[in-house]
Amino acid sequence: MFISEKAPAKINLTLDALYKRADGYHELEMVMTSVDLADRIDLLSLPHSAILLESSSGLVPQDDKNLAYMAASLLRKKMGIRRGVAIKIDKKVPVAAGLAGGSSDAAATLRGLNRLWGLGLSLRELAEIGSEIGSDVPYCVYGNTALAKGRGERLQVLPAPPSCWVVLAKPSQGVSTADVFGELKVDHVQTRPKTKEMMEALYRQDYRAITRLLSNVLEPITMNMEPDVRKLKEKMYQFGADGVLMSGSGPTVFALVDRESRAKRMVNSLKGFCPQVFAVRMLGNLNKTKQNAIVQA
Ligand code: ATP
Repeated sequence: MFISEKAPAKINLTLDALYKRADGYHELEMVMTSVDLADRIDLLSLPHSAILLESSSGLVPQDDKNLAYMAASLLRKKMGIRRGVAIKIDKKVPVAAGLAGGSSDAAATLRGLNRLWGLGLSLRELAEIGSEIGSDVPYCVYGNTALAKGRGERLQVLPAPPSCWVVLAKPSQGVSTADVFGELKVDHVQTRPKTKEMMEALYRQDYRAITRLLSNVLEPITMNMEPDVRKLKEKMYQFGADGVLMSGSGPTVFALVDRESRAKRMVNSLKGFCPQVFAVRMLGNLNKTKQNAIVQA
């Protein structure tokens, strides 16, 4: 049996680090949403126990270090599955970019194998398993729009932003998430996101307020490591962005734009400056009835 699963990129509308915890991780508060730029994960059930993996990108591991491989291996172990799987990743999301590409591949593998192997696990159970692989995996299991707290595993579902275009641009250099967090001094943060106001703006579907409230405490740190982040922000505003922010630990910068024509013009103008540029739609909220639900992995 064979199935395909989409693994969309996420962007941060806000990212706050409240304090450093005793376990060394930062206590985070992030509003995240998914965009229509996705890897495709093909899963083919194997009668024997092997996990095979291949990816269209040479930038990601092709072995048991790949997060999709780790997800399959963990699920097999937890559920006592004897069958194996061939995993093929068609990589479209830029790597080491702040877009949670690897976490989303892991989450899509969990969702896909749940169907392929007929396990009948809930999203909550898949997210709990995913939290052992990486902090962003629980959010990626659910997708859509959510407030994520803790290391990212405590989730509250939110309404999707109003329909608009998202222009994503990734400078050629990637950055290491660990290096960026290593430079973060929570007591020295000058501008913090107004997370509650961002959530209220999402409930009101207030596009202008959402663009005004975009904020990420990691942005100044990554800007110092990768000056193209600042240049890209300036250029995006120059080309008519309604709001611009770096996603996650970067270095991808995204612009929100309400008109398709302006988004396309922005992509054309940025192409000479930046190797990876995309104009995509926000992904809608797939399940409105689940808004407000608190989910915890
Ligand atoms: P985040 O926003 O969650 O910090 P990111 O977008 O910055 O993630 P990823 O693209 O997930 O970063 O890649 C981070 C590292 O994970 C890379 O060094 C990459 O080699 C490794 N990796 C392992 N598996 C994958 C995968 N399936 N896709 C992408 N990267 C992977």
